[in-house]
Amino acid sequence: MRRALVAGNWKMNGSRADINDLMQGLLTGLSEGVNGVDVVVCPPFPYLTQVTEAAHGSELIVGSQNVCEQSSGAYTGEVAASMLRDFNVRYVIVGHSERRQLYGETDQLIASKVGAVSEAGMIPVLCVGETREQRDRGAAEETVLAQIASVVAAHGVSAFADSVIAYEPVWAIGTGLSATSEQAQHMHAVIRQYLARHDAAVADAVQIVYGGSVTADNAEELFACPDIDGGLVGGASLNAQAFIRICKSVS
Ligand code: PEP
Repeated sequence: MRRALVAGNWKMNGSRADINDLMQGLLTGLSEGVNGVDVVVCPPFPYLTQVTEAAHGSELIVGSQNVCEQSSGAYTGEVAASMLRDFNVRYVIVGHSERRQLYGETDQLIASKVGAVSEAGMIPVLCVGETREQRDRGAAEETVLAQIASVVAAHGVSAFADSVIAYEPVWAIGTGLSATSEQAQHMHAVIRQYLARHDAAVADAVQIVYGGSVTADNAEELFACPDIDGGLVGGASLNAQAFIRICKSVS
């Protein structure tokens, strides 16, 4: 039985004061009982200390939105996996579509980042997903599986023994247009079947979460699907009440 995971990706939003309020709301909501789900928040880098300190002693887990593939050195503006580990970060989002599209991250670079995160003892959350155009021309599955295959090629399927996969169709991110539960379940099953061809135990155990306009209203239906193990939530994770409702939607 896979444990559920709900992660909030705060993206480049918030101030010290906003995050203080958000954390208070989240910690209050969590203390009132959110069961059977690991809850993660991924703040912007400068707020990691504030968030890890506020989360201390609670069940809230801290994640990061990105990482450098290099371990240290002359990489101005980058943040190494060991530095994140130093701040008790446990999950690292890797290969978000905004990183792929706006910052030109390739499958090869993303695979290197997955390796860096795992070597530092944290859990990569590998984001995969097709664009609208790829879906419309029938290339959604091939696109998503190629993104996963590049990690298998670099590290073997065992990389997914300690990773999370986030299926995030690009057309659903930040658009208010979530994939239907049928579309999401289908792709999650396709991913699991692909991994099973390499290693059935890894395929069965890996958490595959869905991201793309998850809200308090659609989370329950999505999370009820057999291959959907929770969510990666952008916009709705900036509202404590909505995010807690999403976490509670895990049955
Ligand atoms: C995301 O950015 O990972 C995401 C899923 O965003 P949203 O929930 O706002 O669509």
